[in-house]
Amino acid sequence: MPDKPVVLIVDDAVTNTMVLAGCLKDKYQIKVASDGLRCLELVLLKPEPDLILLDIEMPGMDGYEVCRQLKGNTLTKDIPIIFVTGNDQDEDEEKGLNLGAVDYITKPVRPSIMKARVRTHITLKQQRDQLLSMATHDQLTGLYNRHYLLHSAQNKISLSLRHDLPLSLVMMDIDHFKMVNDTYGHPVGDIVLQKIAELLEKHCRQEDIVVRFGGEEFVIMLDHTDLHDAEEKAENLRSLIEALNPEQLLVTMSMGVVQLKPDEDNIAELIKRADIALYSAKENGRNRVVVAS
Ligand code: GH3
Ligand code: MG
Ligand code: MG
Ligand code: MG
Repeated sequence: MPDKPVVLIVDDAVTNTMVLAGCLKDKYQIKVASDGLRCLELVLLKPEPDLILLDIEMPGMDGYEVCRQLKGNTLTKDIPIIFVTGNDQDEDEEKGLNLGAVDYITKPVRPSIMKARVRTHITLKQQRDQLLSMATHDQLTGLYNRHYLLHSAQNKISLSLRHDLPLSLVMMDIDHFKMVNDTYGHPVGDIVLQKIAELLEKHCRQEDIVVRFGGEEFVIMLDHTDLHDAEEKAENLRSLIEALNPEQLLVTMSMGVVQLKPDEDNIAELIKRADIALYSAKENGRNRVVVAS
């Protein structure tokens, strides 16, 4: 049974919070903030809310400002917000919707209508999350896909250049993988790919991006990692894979390692150099790591 969706209720009046929570607590996990600042803190804590019910009139930061800040932050901008407010003028509602709220409910709330609207917007959010996940992940292994890497790399590259932090990339390719398929069949090949993906993910940090780049090619983007550390990391992964024996087979990988250069501002260049290093690992006998010169 999946966890209940999370609803964050933001209201300075305890009685309002209690009414809303009372209506929703059976179907949703409820979090409560009694002012805007607390909302901005809570929203970043796991579990992330799937929807926010936001009061407008609150001491300190009002609901409009909270909404503005949530919509201006990449981490929170996609969480649907419904204003729940005593302000029933058209211009208030227009202002709220223009700030990016998905809906506007006036007090006193009618529980059945409020519940229906909450349900609709949570369903839409979940469908959107699912589509996004499918668009950014590889189905067979569950790793990120090439599209995600190319999309997210630009951000990492800009940050790395701006703050003068090292960024490295390892490109890896299974050796003689065609032979695995030809000898043991495609389904066994698929299991091998899944087990290698699992190993890579297990041995990388949360902030590293582990990607199935193509058929039997993987890429790992290593934040805050220089060439020397990336080489060590790659060598470690290479030997773990050699010892893995998925489906009782000896499977090895060749790897090319690169570090972002100060004048390199795009992922294509980095991948090209990693590919050349990988090619050289293949040429020199496979099951080895080659660092880009
Ligand atoms: P090399 O050491 O030069 O990399 O040799 P290789 O055999 O690994 O390389 P090649 O490019 O000739 O073959 C790659 C193989 O990967 C062929 C293709 O059928 C297989 N492959 C690609 N995607 C999948 C997949 O999703 N599942 C399975 N089972 N095999 C796949
Ligand atoms: Mg209020
Ligand atoms: Mg290949
Ligand atoms: Mg290969």
